[in-house]
Parts: sequence; structure tokens; C-alpha cells
Amino acid sequence: MPELPEVETVARGLRRLIVGKNIVKVSHDNAKSFPNSLVEVNNFMVGANIGGVRRRAKVIIIDLDDSWSLVAHLKMTGQMVYRGEENWGAGHPNDDFLAELPVRATRVQIEFSDGSKLFFNDQRKFGWMKLLPTAEIKNMPFFIKVGPEPLEDSFTLENFIDRFKRKKRSAIKAALLDQSVIAGVGNIYADESLWRAQIHPETRVESLDSSEFKRLYEAVRYVMNLSIEKGGSTARNYVNADGGKGNYLDYANVFRKEGSLCARCGSEIIKTRVAGRGTHICPVCQKVKA
Ligand SMILES: [Zn+2]
Repeated sequence: MPELPEVETVARGLRRLIVGKNIVKVSHDNAKSFPNSLVEVNNFMVGANIGGVRRRAKVIIIDLDDSWSLVAHLKMTGQMVYRGEENWGAGHPNDDFLAELPVRATRVQIEFSDGSKLFFNDQRKFGWMKLLPTAEIKNMPFFIKVGPEPLEDSFTLENFIDRFKRKKRSAIKAALLDQSVIAGVGNIYADESLWRAQIHPETRVESLDSSEFKRLYEAVRYVMNLSIEKGGSTARNYVNADGGKGNYLDYANVFRKEGSLCARCGSEIIKTRVAGRGTHICPVCQKVKA
């Protein structure tokens, strides 16, 4: 599933590519992927201009200039890919299945007045896109529950420690993955952050001391910022708004590195299971606390 850096990369790409464009046509094939009625689409989407693109947690918000917005969650296999004259066809590192769009997995197709198009593809149909009044976004159940954005400048170490107090008895990895604690951290960045902070993923939140919290806070921000810089991680179906892949995994230290050697101490990275998820650690740098 795409995590914060991947969704941020898509949002930045879309901001560069579609802001200011005028929507002339919308087609969609499946009510689960796009539940709005034709009447809503015709009244509030067709004819509107793209005002801006934002991200909150793993959700992309495309604001229209008529006070309505498109809210999209990519989930497992969702993609948002733009095709315009500037990037249609040759010269891009696209998968073959993305070279020609739409594909069978295209759920929503948005056509702009200049002939360019935005495709929402989703093979497994867990993702969705919804059209709703911008003012109602904050009342969606997801937005009520979700924790703060860890990469915001205003998100301090004190805020970070404070958020984890509600999960004292949890394993730190489970708490990191809990979207109500902080937003956007998934399996890849939880493993990478814990390795960097030298904390075993099974360590209970209540037994972390302040220096460990500080290391973890810095590690979470470091690994996710580095990933955004590298265009995210392509583990499965993720592509950026141009249809290209991210290469953060080339820089990963533990995720899917079992059998290779720890960059810090030279021990062998192992794969185990924590919080129900495949988990990668250096057993020497990351010791379970007694
Ligand atoms: Zn190590």
C-alpha cells in the first residue's frame, strides 16, 4: 500500500500537472470506486477548474474552484496517472501496461479542455474517489480519526511523545502503524525508522526513554523526507503522477533486505513478524528491552 511519501509524491506531481485545468468530461465504470451520481458529476465537476491539490495522511484531495473537491484513497493498487501532450507516449519509464491508457483497471477518467486526461486506475478496487463539498471533508470519519502530519514543521518532538501516550501498552511498531496516533506511516517506513533509531519493534511504548523517542522522531521524519526526495518506494503497483516508479527502496536499510548485512554493524538483517506484519530488523542494533 502506498504510504505518506508515495501519496505526497503523487500529490506534488498532480499539483504540477493539473492545477488550472478545466474539466470537460468524466467517465467512470464502477460505483465502489466512484460512488457519485451522474447528476452530481454534471453539476459540480464538469465545467469546474482544478484549484489545487493537497494531501492529508494517505488521502489526495483535488480542490475544484466551485467549492467541491475530489477525495481519493489509493489503498492497495490505486494509481493516479496524468497523460498530456508533454508526457504522452515515448520517453518515459512506464510499465507497458501504463503506456496506453485507459486500461482495464481504469475506474475514472477525467478529460480536460486541452485534451489531456487524468486516470484513476485500481486493479483490486479497494481504492476510491469521491466528489463532495470541500467544507464536508473534515467531517468524513477518516479525517475525524486520523492523527497529525509528522512532517509538518509545527509537529514537534513534544507532540510526537504526546501522541504515543495513548498507546502505552502497545508495541512501538503497532503504535507507529496506527493512523490515529500519527498519519501516514506504513510498514516500510516503520521498519526503516525503527532500524535508524535502533529500537526493537516489539519494545513497549511505555518503556521507551526520552532519548529513544527523540531518535525515533528524527528517524521517522528523515526516512519519509528522503523517500519523498527519491520519488517514493515502488513495492508493487505504485507509480507517480507521470506513471514512473519511485526508487527509495534502493536506499532502504532493512525493508526487504533480509540476508544482507546491516550498514551500521555488519550483522545479518532478519525478517520476523510484529503487529501481524512482516518486519525487518538488525538483531544486534535493535535489541528487545528487558
Ligand atoms: Zn546492525
